[in-house]
Amino acid sequence: MNTTPTEIRRVEEILERKQAELVRELRNRDGIVIQKSADQMDEIQFASERDLVIRNVDRESRLLRQVKAALRRLQHGSFGICVACEAPIGPKRLAAVPWAPRCIQCQEAADRDGQERDESVGETLAA
Ligand SMILES: [Zn+2]
Repeated sequence: MNTTPTEIRRVEEILERKQAELVRELRNRDGIVIQKSADQMDEIQFASERDLVIRNVDRESRLLRQVKAALRRLQHGSFGICVACEAPIGPKRLAAVPWAPRCIQCQEAADRDGQERDESVGETLAA
């Protein structure tokens, strides 16, 4: 990746903006309201809404961790290097997902192994 100081500054701004956005969204969800109703249909509706909120919080928390890690890599000069195979991550991928920790091949492998979904594995098994 072309890591001129201008380019680093630009990526840093994108990452910091994304970080702020995620922090704000996660904070807004702090008060997940557990609604109660005597009506069973309402209960089912509330439960699925709650599930959706929890899944979103999961996803955003994970994204926030990736953004923070990318900012650290930027400071340490290892930004744009795949954390798994240490090959440069493609510029197109970085342009689309600046916080991507892995190159496309390693990400696909990780998705297959479910590495990025470890938090929800317990839930799936329990269900
Ligand atoms: Zn890789």
